[in-house]
Order: sequence, then structure tokens, then C-alpha cells
Amino acid sequence: MTAREALKTYFGYDDFRPLQEEIIHSVLEGRDTLALMPTGGGKSLCFQVPTMAMDGLCLVITPLIALMKDQVENLRKREIRAAAIYTGMTYEEQKVALDNCQWGPYHFLYVSPERLESEEFRERLARLPISLIAVDEAHCISQWGYDFRPSYLKIAEIREVVQANPHPLAAEKRANTHVPILALTATATPEVVDDIQERLAFSEKNVLRKSFLRQNLSYVVRQTNKKADEIVHILSKVPGSAIVYVRNRQRAQEIAAYLNEKGFSADFYHAGLTSKERSAKQEAWKRYSLTMSNNPHSERWVGETPYGIRIIVATNAFGMGIDKPDVRMVIHHDLPDTVEAYFQEAGRAGRDEQRAYAVLLYDPSQDKVKARKRVADNYPPKEFVADVYHKTCDFLGVGAGSGEGHTFMLPINDLCRIMHLPILQTCAALHLLTQAGYVSFQEEQEIQPRVKILISRREISDYGLSEQQRQLLEALMRTYTGIFTDLQYVHLGDKVMRRLGDEGASRVGNKHSEIHDLLVSLAQRHIITYIPYDTANTLTLTQERQTDIYLPTTIYENHRQQYIDKLKAMVEYADNQLYCRSQLLLSYFGEIDADTCGTCDVCRSLSARTSATSARR
Ligand code: ADP
Ligand code: MG
Repeated sequence: MTAREALKTYFGYDDFRPLQEEIIHSVLEGRDTLALMPTGGGKSLCFQVPTMAMDGLCLVITPLIALMKDQVENLRKREIRAAAIYTGMTYEEQKVALDNCQWGPYHFLYVSPERLESEEFRERLARLPISLIAVDEAHCISQWGYDFRPSYLKIAEIREVVQANPHPLAAEKRANTHVPILALTATATPEVVDDIQERLAFSEKNVLRKSFLRQNLSYVVRQTNKKADEIVHILSKVPGSAIVYVRNRQRAQEIAAYLNEKGFSADFYHAGLTSKERSAKQEAWKRYSLTMSNNPHSERWVGETPYGIRIIVATNAFGMGIDKPDVRMVIHHDLPDTVEAYFQEAGRAGRDEQRAYAVLLYDPSQDKVKARKRVADNYPPKEFVADVYHKTCDFLGVGAGSGEGHTFMLPINDLCRIMHLPILQTCAALHLLTQAGYVSFQEEQEIQPRVKILISRREISDYGLSEQQRQLLEALMRTYTGIFTDLQYVHLGDKVMRRLGDEGASRVGNKHSEIHDLLVSLAQRHIITYIPYDTANTLTLTQERQTDIYLPTTIYENHRQQYIDKLKAMVEYADNQLYCRSQLLLSYFGEIDADTCGTCDVCRSLSARTSATSARR
């Protein structure tokens, strides 16, 4: 099957988007490839299409569990077999997923990078018929990137493991036995581009780059010390869906309330909400469309309109994996940490190629003070970091010399209250300890729901259960052995569903909450114990508890300097009144020959000045 046939047959698309075809051909030729494409450019298809065209299994390494699940779900909707392995799955579940990949007609195995560190996992990997390794968000491999993940460095090692057992059919189609690697990212400065290829042990340099130019997006910086009012002003001038990014949760709530007060349809979003609340808000915002609501200005809504929510005021927890085409405006209330982050967040506006705006609100004196404070918060003194390490171990009950490999849920608020630690700096310290390899601290991990059945199989008929309740109980019993003795992680969307006789994965979405409600009703009658799906911070001790903590220069001083440099670049962008903003952003990503955009605030004020001069002449 050719790539184009696979595109049509499995994904239902007639044409490739720019550069997709080149990337896919490079992969099909068996070449290691680094693909740079802005967010929304269609990177996933670049590994999905060649895998379907080649046969064999594609190993996908991706850092975010939410994105992983999203993609697996999407593939399954297209009737493509895909599995995922991540923290929180039981050993049994992982084994089933791996067995499926080894023996079954599976095409995709998604794993989080942390998996690669496990010896057992590597052993299994050597027996899988892998035809392609895809590394999503590949900038995570670089210390120069803005989201360094130490486990990404293991990828080069697993290449050798994988190479031991190339899929024969795939190798034949590629005419060589080399299992290629495809690295993908939306944010790569020139040094990161080099770093990625080196650290993934590319057999030769090979970069395919789509321009990061966003023709329909106008970049604007507004200097103001009354940011909330400026937001109101901007939103009343440009209709349509909008995102307002803020830096903390409380601010999100305050600004959403202020916008409501001023008659806008707005809501807030941050990682502190339950996942149910988050998905409800996200869905309401996604549903909003200008055409449906006709003229939003003539109506004064508080909160949600009958057409959904127009404006979401959010922390940077919002937006990953969301693909809403008609966002007209992304406003940043505060400076992001990096130009990379800014470009990515701002780039969520105008995916539909219609005119859209990315506005950064900037209060020069205040924001510079805040920037300096951020450096101090993110890099607290080394003694403090060591103190956090020991207090956290004490809090978790881990004694000296023990704890290696254990994962704990870590309620940060409790830790900080009981141990008298400041929360912001404590989180920063835990991230530093992660970088230095002492622990692996993961914020807001998704915890699978857990169920234990409290009655025996025979007793089921005594309870006068509804047909649905009975079926669900039986499906759980059959799927999870041991559910009578221990709390078991359950996957409501998958196995249980199939046992319930539901074949169409597309109905999973609705079924989810139905099953949740059924489980709640069973728990109320003390037939089961049910701990619903939730998110929590987790901490894994990657080494036994140490007596002394050492933060090397490469982790502490160098990263601190890097952080400062990146923040400086962001401040420069905000201060700039001379250069076209689009040009400035593109040059940051190594595109130095771009034209001026003509629509950013700098271009506009230049052309206004020019026309004023010519009018006077
Ligand atoms: P990225 O990872 O680059 O941010 P995604 O892979 O998530 O982007 O793709 C963004 C959206 O574009 C998805 O909804 C995807 O289905 C769609 N898409 C990708 N390629 C094509 C194509 N060739 N034709 C139509 N839609 C596409
Ligand atoms: Mg992607």
C-alpha cells in the first residue's frame, strides 16, 4: 500500500498537508528524520501513515498521558489497533498490552519515556516487531529545550534493543533492516535541532522543516498597567472564541469573574479543578461558535451561553491537544517563561487560516520585577532543595537507604503545611531534584479509577440489582481477577465496555459517565468500593534515599542561566518596537529570511507613520 492509499483508506483524507508527504517518504526510505512543524500542522499522521503503509509496529514515545490516550482513542475510532503503557497501569494490564503488540495485529504502542528505564520493559521490547520509532515532542530530549525530560536520553539506547528484531515485512518494504526514528517537534531553536539529532544517534543529519510563519495571525503587544480593562477593551472589539492565559489559578478565577461582570461569556480553567469540571468547561468552550451565536455583543451573558462559553481564562494547563480551529484571539495577561511557550500558546489562534490575534499585555516596570522574582522562585538556594528532599522523604515515611523505585502520591498542599514549606519553591525544588535524578516528580498525573467488590459472586442475585448494574458487576469480575480481595485499577473505556457487549469505540465517550454513575450507585449500597478517576501529583524515588544531595553545575547553575536567557528573550520580544514581530519570532526559530508581516503592531505603526508622512508631503 502506498502512503497516499493509507492516508485515504485509514484516515479518510484525500490530500497531504504541506511537508507531510516529504516526511513520510523520508521515513519509508528508512532514514532517520527530524520533522519540525508548528502545532496543528499534522505531525501525528507523519508516523501513523507510514506505519500503516509498512506493516509492523510503531513505538511512539510521548510525554503526556492525556495526549497519549487521546491519540489511542482516535486510532481506535478508525479501527486501528493501538495500545498505551503508562504509570498507573497494573503489571497485568501492561503485560496484556505488550502481548497484544507482540502477537496481535497491533500497529501502535504509545509509551511514556519513563517506561524506557525499566529493564523488564526493554526485554519485552526486543521481541516486538517494531518498524518505526516515533519520538513526539522531541525537544524534551534537549537540555536546551524548554521542557527537558531526562528519560528521553534513554531513547538512543533502546534503538539498539529494537534493532535486534526488525519486522521482516517492513524491512522488505523499506529495502533495508535499519529501523528508522522519526522525531517530531513544534518548537526547536537551531541548537535544539542539532541536539535532538545527536542525542537520538541519527545515522546522518536529516531535518525537514515547515515554516513557522502564520500568515493570518497578527502579533500585538499592548503596554498597559490596567490589564483587566485592556482585556475587556480588546474582547469587545474582536468577536469570537478567545483564550486568556494567566499565570496562576486565582488570577484565572478573578479575571473570569471580572469578564462576567462586564457582560462577557467567560469561565476559568486550571489544573486544580477535577477532571470532570475541566472536561465540562473545555467542551463548553469548544462548542462555542460565532456563527451559531450570531452576534455575541448584543447579548449579555454571564458564564455559559446556550451556545457554549466564549472566553476561557486559563493557566498553561489548558490547550495541549485541543484542536479548535476558530479561535480568534489568544491574550496573554503575563509574560510566558519562554518564546517557545509563547509561540505555541499564541499559535492556538486562527488554525482555520482566518484572521486572528495574539496579544501580549505588558507592563514594563511591573513585569520586569516579576520576571526577576520568577528566577528566584524557580531556583531556590541549594540548601533549600536538599531540605525539601529530606522533608519530603520524612513526610512519605521513607527512611535512609530505602525507597528505591517506589511511587507515592504526593499531596503538595499537605506536605507544605505540615513541613512548613513555601509551595512555589517546593515544587521548583522537586523539579530540580527530578532533573538531578534523585526523584521523578510528576504534577497532575491521571490516576485510574479503582474498584473492589465487597460481596461474593453468589450474593449478586440477593440484591435486586438492575440489569445494567448486574451486567457491569459481572463484566468487572470477569475482567479483573483479584477484584474481590484488592482495589483494582479499572479501565472503564475499554475492556469492561467490550465485555458489556459494546463494540463501537465511538460510543465510549457517553458510556463513560453512565458507567461512573452505575458504579456510584453500587458504592452507595456498599456492594463495591469505588475510587473515581482523579488527578494527583506523584513522586517516584529513582534512587534509595540519600544522605547528601548534590546538585551539579550542569543541572543548577547552567539551567538557571538558561532560564534567565530565555526569559530575557521573552522580555526583548515585549520591549521591541522596531522589528516586525513575526520576523522576530521566526528568527528565534532560525528562519532569518522571512518577510515583514504587515499586520503586527510594529508593522502597523510603521506604516501609519509612513502614510502620515506621505500625506503631509
Ligand atoms: P500536531 O501534532 O502537529 O500539533 P496533529 O497531528 O494533532 O497536529 O493534527 C492536527 C489536526 O490536523 C488533526 O485533527 C488531524 O486529524 C488534522 N490533519 C492532519 N493531517 C491532515 C490531512 N492531511 N488532512 C486533513 N486533516 C489533517
Ligand atoms: Mg502533536
